[in-house]
Amino acid sequence: METFQNIWNNIKTQLEQSIAEEDFKETFVSISNVFKVVNNNIYLIAPNPFIKSKIDNFWLNRLNGMLSEHLKEKHVFKIITKDQAAEEISKTKEYQINTPEPKLEERFKTGLNNSYTFDNFVVGASNRLAYTSAIKVADQPGEFANPLYIFGDVGLGKTHLMQCVGNYILENDIKRKVLYVKTDQFIEDYGRAAVKKTFEEFSKKYENIDILLVDDIQFLAGKTQSQLEFFKIFERLKEANKQIVITSDRPAPELFDIMSRLTSRFEWGLTVDINRPSLDHRILILKKKLQVETQNPDLIPEEVLEFIASIFDNNVRELEGALKRVLFYCTAFDYKFTVQNAEEALKNLLNSKDISNKSVNNGNYNTVLDVVSSYYRITTSDLLSTKRNKQYVYPRQISMYILKELYDLTYKKIGQLFNNRDHSTVIYSIEQITNDIQIDQSKKDDVDKLLLKCGKKA
Ligand code: ADP
Ligand code: MG
Repeated sequence: METFQNIWNNIKTQLEQSIAEEDFKETFVSISNVFKVVNNNIYLIAPNPFIKSKIDNFWLNRLNGMLSEHLKEKHVFKIITKDQAAEEISKTKEYQINTPEPKLEERFKTGLNNSYTFDNFVVGASNRLAYTSAIKVADQPGEFANPLYIFGDVGLGKTHLMQCVGNYILENDIKRKVLYVKTDQFIEDYGRAAVKKTFEEFSKKYENIDILLVDDIQFLAGKTQSQLEFFKIFERLKEANKQIVITSDRPAPELFDIMSRLTSRFEWGLTVDINRPSLDHRILILKKKLQVETQNPDLIPEEVLEFIASIFDNNVRELEGALKRVLFYCTAFDYKFTVQNAEEALKNLLNSKDISNKSVNNGNYNTVLDVVSSYYRITTSDLLSTKRNKQYVYPRQISMYILKELYDLTYKKIGQLFNNRDHSTVIYSIEQITNDIQIDQSKKDDVDKLLLKCGKKA
């Protein structure tokens, strides 16, 4: 088998022959050794941060494309600086640069997709607790919370987050045996073992590991034998302090047709949920996806991203699919990234979506402004002004809150509406009202009344 070092040597030669001499000399000539290969990442050392960022921004896609011609399994290059490499070596004293990596075929099969990393996961209010808990679990497997139970609707990032845990653990120690399994695969494995009487192999697969990640546990419903088997595995792993992470589409007590001694155990550790991301959060996710796909988060103008994000509001997978469509459509036909072209690209998807109540227009904003100003007996221009008297500030904050609540406008957009205020002011105002209505019932009643008047469905 070709070694990783040989592969890099070959790619380097190819580069030398195919790119401008200056580029080659400036960027690649000094990169000689493969530093290490961890979890399908091939680490190369750049002499300084400048060259690292140059490669990351301009060359990495091309390098990875070349790499894929050499290897069957998906690997990617990671560029780190000399300093980072030195730091890593000093961290692990026993680390020897010449330690041969296990051969691919001898490696433990993890089932993980290595593109699901914490780096690529965009954090916001809807997933912050889940994210921080997952990091802690990845940092201290078996100690912080066992099991970690993550639930939420489809397409909101459960699988992604769960796999981050596995990838992170492997990144730090490739010898850890991490196993990611979808629940239906577990059921299938068990069924096969039952038919072929190969239980030993089955138990070995599921018990001789350090970390077990089980995705979509709700599919155990009605599968009594598989549940019993999973129960045994759970007990053994838990007793041995091996980390278990479980995802599901609902909280454990609401799992249907799964024995209660299992569901109650799912609550022994920590339960966290993932909710729908806000509009601002969705736009950030789109930017991150652009970064990953094209290395350029600013390729598509903000207003186009906002357009996409305002329509695809309850499933990140669909959101991502829409972005890919727009990318493909505009690149393939060489069109500009405009809202109109995006709309064209998404035409088929839009037909099936009810976008009528999402396309906010000035009429909607004006209703909110009118309703709130007349309720508080002030003029709309005072409402929109920068005057700081209490009689204006409070209704202003309420209007912002209502606009966010009803139309999920971005903070930026709301700021623009109110005399170009900074988005941090808007965030502060909305938080203020959110807190107020939690502690003050009469304020809550006011806000509820206003929301109804502004068109919220009761
Ligand atoms: P689930 O398992 O909850 O159905 P997935 O983890 O499969 O959802 O997520 C669907 C898609 O959305 C994946 O491509 C994932 O990378 C992406 N995704 C979801 N949440 C985020 C996030 N917070 N940041 C980046 N990508 C996300
Ligand atoms: Mg999933």
